[in-house]
Amino acid sequence: MNITLKQKIIAKCAELDIPLVGFAPACRWDKPLFEPWVPQDFRPRSIFSETQTVIVIGLPVNLPIVETSPSIYYHELYRTVNTLLDTNGYRISLFLNTEGFPSLWIPRDGYGSISSLKEKPLTFFSHRHAAFLAGLGNFGINNMLLTEKFGPRVRFVSIFTAADIPADPVMERPLCTKCMQCVDICPVKALDGRAYPEGLTDKKTCATRSEALYKSDISPCGLCIKVCPIGEDRKLYLREDPRIYDEDDTTFALYHNAWKHVRSYGGR
Ligand code: SF4
Ligand code: SF4
Repeated sequence: MNITLKQKIIAKCAELDIPLVGFAPACRWDKPLFEPWVPQDFRPRSIFSETQTVIVIGLPVNLPIVETSPSIYYHELYRTVNTLLDTNGYRISLFLNTEGFPSLWIPRDGYGSISSLKEKPLTFFSHRHAAFLAGLGNFGINNMLLTEKFGPRVRFVSIFTAADIPADPVMERPLCTKCMQCVDICPVKALDGRAYPEGLTDKKTCATRSEALYKSDISPCGLCIKVCPIGEDRKLYLREDPRIYDEDDTTFALYHNAWKHVRSYGGR
């Protein structure tokens, strides 16, 4: 097991301002922890047979920007975070190659357009499952991966490597409190309120809303990640009171006015 390499990757992530990094052995995909599990073709070794370890990195989406959603502001944040994730995932794979370990980065989305996603609501690899198996968090009722630092307000990419790197433990303690705020706020009722994996997002309905927002330049939706009470980011940004999202409550008028202002510009 290559402990030194693990330390080097953690140091590299710190240098790149990447706050979340986890390590999962590829064999974890072959031991289902719940059903339905990741199908064979979607597992790391089916995609890159040399894979020994999957490294998952995560970058947050800032809560006060998500709060303006749907808006051009969140749209641009989403694009920026995606670009950084892909760039950094690619760079880490190059670093591992130069260390002598064949490695590949897997892009964060893996679909060409929302229409493709509506037709086939799956991508060739699930970073959420990778992040779960790399110990970065566990699933919430909103079907997102919840993390201690950022709740569901984080996006991931994965790097497949032939290096055998010590694993991080899967997080046992569930983070989701089942408060149902994500279910209540979804404007198209795409979440059925059941815990993952019994309750799955109605992906087609969710994608249809995203498509409409995309046509107006203000995708993605993000409402179900905005309200989730999990995450230390809520404390950082002084947003621990859930009443902030009741736009009829005048106590928080300063926030509401800011969101209305941002939403009024830059989209169609
Ligand atoms: S992203 Fe929006 S439409 Fe999709 S499940 Fe969340 S709240 Fe509902
Ligand atoms: S909003 Fe509540 S129910 Fe939904 S994922 Fe977060 S903690 Fe769980």
